[in-house]
Amino acid sequence: MDGKRDYYAVLGVNRNAGEEEIKKAYRKLALKHHPDRNPGDKQAEEKFKEISEAYQVLTDPEKRTQYNQYGHAAFGDGGPFRGGFDFTSGFEDIFGDIFGEFFGAGTGRRRGRTRGEDLRYNLDITFEEAAFGTEKKIKIPRQGACDACHGSGCKPGTSPRTCPTCRGRGQVSFQQGFFTVSRTCNQCRGQGTIIPDPCSSCGGTGRVRKLHTLSVKIPPGVDTGARLKLRSEGEGGVSGGPAGDLYVVIQVQPHPLFVREGLDIICEVPIGFVQAALGAEIDVPTLEGKVKMKIPAGTQSGKVFRLKGKGVRDIQGYQQGDQLARVVVETPTHLSARQKDLLKEFAALGGEEIHPLSKGFIEKVKQIFG
Ligand SMILES: [Zn+2]
Ligand SMILES: [Zn+2]
Repeated sequence: MDGKRDYYAVLGVNRNAGEEEIKKAYRKLALKHHPDRNPGDKQAEEKFKEISEAYQVLTDPEKRTQYNQYGHAAFGDGGPFRGGFDFTSGFEDIFGDIFGEFFGAGTGRRRGRTRGEDLRYNLDITFEEAAFGTEKKIKIPRQGACDACHGSGCKPGTSPRTCPTCRGRGQVSFQQGFFTVSRTCNQCRGQGTIIPDPCSSCGGTGRVRKLHTLSVKIPPGVDTGARLKLRSEGEGGVSGGPAGDLYVVIQVQPHPLFVREGLDIICEVPIGFVQAALGAEIDVPTLEGKVKMKIPAGTQSGKVFRLKGKGVRDIQGYQQGDQLARVVVETPTHLSARQKDLLKEFAALGGEEIHPLSKGFIEKVKQIFG
């Protein structure tokens, strides 16, 4: 065991590094020196062995304690771990964990049985549809079994053949230094079979993209960003794998009159200054049509009136919001000469007491500026 480097130095971590830190350091180095990235490079192979050995010792609490105490001698002829390292046991999970990206579907998944991908569909609905709920037909392009070959991928009248490279196993093993690495067969991509005469409709994949029409029930009370999950309505699975899910993401179109805030609906209602001063009964639009609303005399611009229960029902149907009607007093423009005269006469009559807001404001200005 001469000339061996310190395991901590090999991984570039300090002696009290935690397991996560060691794993991270290993992952970084292992990806760099992995034999698959450096084919035929003896030095990288040695380096990879060295870091794998250091990793194996330092992530095993018992081995690490021994190593801290005896150094490399712990694994020498007289040491408790005589006999060197077993790089095959536990290798699958190191690989599954760390090299998943190299081996793709090779580890863990069997024979290309793959779950179909989830799909996302953005659905625009109107303000009213969001409030009351609706049912929508949507068309989604999604992978399904090819009709021409019934999903087999083979030209009609032909059938798949056992893959000659892996002899049907789907995996090939090869010797890498002193450990054996298994990986997905490149020729058949883990299927174990190859298609000698591919179907011309699907190119041998067994799947084609088709438009599927689906009916989606939108519950009342949804808002922009709501995500409805339709189980197994995503992409079809490969080789008998389960289908993915479909997520319908709701986007509510803006309404010309209403703005939604939680379960409440806000609506701005312009009124004339005479109505505001004398009081009036006005029409206010709600989701269920027009309703009459009383404006008391002396209503100021910006005053909010609450119409109970005229908002949106929550998605569970337990409660319902209100409508908030915000009154905006409109100043008249394009006055006729007669109207101007009347307003001037009105102003000449009015004292400060009819404008308490303005009176208060003028007094504050006086206090501050003298
Ligand atoms: Zn194969
Ligand atoms: Zn086909």
